[in-house]
Amino acid sequence: MKHRIVVLGAGYAGAFAAGSLARRLSPADTEITVVNAVPDFVERMRLHQLAIGQDLAFRKLTDIFAGTGVRLRLARVTGVDPERRTVAVTGEDGDGELAYDTLLYALGSSVAHHDVPGVAEYAFDVTGRSSALRLRERLADLGEGATVLVVGEGLTGIETATEFAESRPDLSVALAARGELGAWLSPRARRHLRRSFDRFGITAHEHTRIEAVEPTRAIAADGTSVPADVTVWSAGFAVHPIAAASGLEVAETGQIVVDRTMRSVSHPDVYAAGDCAYAIGENGRPLPMSCASAGFTNMQATAAIIARLTGGEVPSVGLKYYGNHISLGRRDAIFQMVDAEVRSKSWFLGGRTAARLKSGVLKGAGWSIAHPTFGMPKRKRRLATAPSRAGLRVAA
Ligand SMILES: Cc1cc2nc3c(=O)[nH]c(=O)nc-3n(C[C@H](O)[C@H](O)[C@H](O)COP(=O)(O)OP(=O)(O)OC[C@H]3O[C@@H](n4cnc5c(N)ncnc54)[C@H](O)[C@@H]3O)c2cc1C
Repeated sequence: MKHRIVVLGAGYAGAFAAGSLARRLSPADTEITVVNAVPDFVERMRLHQLAIGQDLAFRKLTDIFAGTGVRLRLARVTGVDPERRTVAVTGEDGDGELAYDTLLYALGSSVAHHDVPGVAEYAFDVTGRSSALRLRERLADLGEGATVLVVGEGLTGIETATEFAESRPDLSVALAARGELGAWLSPRARRHLRRSFDRFGITAHEHTRIEAVEPTRAIAADGTSVPADVTVWSAGFAVHPIAAASGLEVAETGQIVVDRTMRSVSHPDVYAAGDCAYAIGENGRPLPMSCASAGFTNMQATAAIIARLTGGEVPSVGLKYYGNHISLGRRDAIFQMVDAEVRSKSWFLGGRTAARLKSGVLKGAGWSIAHPTFGMPKRKRRLATAPSRAGLRVAA
């Protein structure tokens, strides 16, 4: 009887966590299964590049996990029953159920519509591969001078607008910001951003809250009509409702409330990592949904799972958010450091060096997930007690 660890989602958090667990736990007494809706490791941080027509090859999860012992179940998770410790899935083989002793929930997030009329019907987004591919098809059909409006002045909105303007100078790209463009950046970084927008010819509609989307325009709160052959909705991420529906304790955002070790505060057999975890950072604030947070939280979750199963002390992984690294097309970027209160520090790095660094970060994240056996210890760790269906409750 092996201890069954089920990891939901093979994005930045789940794929790395599964590899990391397989690298360190002995297959003699643990069995690791990853459930993912699609067969590839989708690098979400590149989806705006995919949408504008760049050729990107995503790695197959079967190749990534080859030789690790991790089992891959290609299916969509439809529910979790934390009392029975089962996960409901549906896939090519029909509906099914998976039993777990320990669950790591890492289903990420998708676009937040904020119930704005017309967004679901007419807007596009870059938060998932299928939606990015739908947008790619639409953009490919657009002729010279067509208008593309990106709604949202956050990191993804800025990256999307600049990437589109650089790759398709024939389009007329605009961005709608609720406040001032880059208001959260340091003054020097903000000036850098404005210069980039000017260079790309992007129109910034500042203090413009979009309250409705129609097929060829968006309507702002003050009634202004902004022309948009294509509206790209980039006003934040929302988590899937599965966790809330399952009875796990969730925050207002629907994210799973976890303790310092990423363990659910309501169900100790369940851990969460990445966008779907409501994890408090060292500054006392919830960690932002980001790749960096997906890294910290999955490392903390796997360290805790391994320690509790093998009888060691749970190590504390740093949960500190250092800054935002924003691509501005392929040749420019801004790296803005933040302080403990998440206020931008005066120091920032901009231009080609920042772009090269960002490119290295993206490659590094992809590489570390694609090479789960790198640094494999010679001896894997055995469970402290005989594998038990009582799971972590006895080993805690
Ligand atoms: C265009 C774009 C650019 C970004 N740029 C940056 C950046 O520069 N820096 C940064 O820090 N962050 C960036 N982010 C945010 C970052 O991508 C996310 O915070 C990160 O992907 C979160 O990792 P995750 O593992 O929690 O979720 P994901 O990477 O979304 O992985 C979730 C996984 O779960 C799977 N899944 C979802 N639902 C189901 C289901 N029901 N059943 C089965 N499988 C399912 C998905 O297929 C996916 O494999 C960007 C996001 C976007 C969209």
